[in-house]
Amino acid sequence: MPGPDNAGQWISSLIKAFVTDSISNRLGGPFGEEPAWGEPLVGFASGDDPIFEAFKKAVGPVHWTPGEIFRLSFPSSAFEAADLSVISWALPQTCLTKKDNRESSKTPSERWARSRTFGEKFNEALKKHLETSLKEAGYEAVSPALSPLWKRFDKTTGVYVSTWSERHIAHSAGLGTFGLCDGLITPVGKAVRLGSAVVRLQIDPTARPYESWHEYCPFLENGKCGVCIQRCPAGAISEKRHDKKRCAAYLRPVLTDFIRDQFGFEGLGCGLCQTGVPCESGIPDKDFFQDC
Ligand code: SF4
Ligand code: SF4
Repeated sequence: MPGPDNAGQWISSLIKAFVTDSISNRLGGPFGEEPAWGEPLVGFASGDDPIFEAFKKAVGPVHWTPGEIFRLSFPSSAFEAADLSVISWALPQTCLTKKDNRESSKTPSERWARSRTFGEKFNEALKKHLETSLKEAGYEAVSPALSPLWKRFDKTTGVYVSTWSERHIAHSAGLGTFGLCDGLITPVGKAVRLGSAVVRLQIDPTARPYESWHEYCPFLENGKCGVCIQRCPAGAISEKRHDKKRCAAYLRPVLTDFIRDQFGFEGLGCGLCQTGVPCESGIPDKDFFQDC
């Protein structure tokens, strides 16, 4: 059983090996065995990090702390929040997928729709794989977004809140900060898909190399950029905010119908605000947007 000293490295290796080796990391269809995702970024946060209480204000009181979802998942376990760690990862879209979507202006490319649909199934398989591997090694673990207790409230309340936000969790684990369009800008950009797990194991937390929630977005920092506003075909991004309701209405049914009609499968996806933008594949260079 790996000890706490090398736990972070061991878990990062588990995640990266699954991405490299799993035959479910595939786009399928006309792209056959082409992988859906490139090499992931992995980060960690301690279960007693005060940021999780801050999420109850930023996201809503329904958002779980790691301790809350762990207790719900393992009710007979006695533990302290500091015994837990959060594992978060970002799966980057491939160069081919980003290039295709960059060239689209109203609807997603087929590669993007496939990575969002079948690549997300792979992401779920990765969450299960990690839970199982950790349990087999003797560590109780849960992937909160897969828990039967996980809920989102938009359909019942009209407020786009869930009990576990992968973007906020990735932020806590040092993986990035929020952009104007609400996506998380990571060191490999915003064209990523996120996942996470909570484990009863102390792991050295990843440093958060930022001070604010939106430090990597030049628009939210100093009003520069705003390219994602023009990229959104639904008019869901403005200088003030990302309109989640308008975005959701474009994703379903406009784009679900398009994907069925054009690509022949039941799927989801857009990603136009994640591609063809300065934060697509990295952290935008603030100097690039300075007046000269
Ligand atoms: S495109 Fe520009 S304004 Fe929009 S999230 Fe990215 S960096 Fe921020
Ligand atoms: S996902 Fe599509 S519809 Fe939603 S904000 Fe981004 S570009 Fe607009």
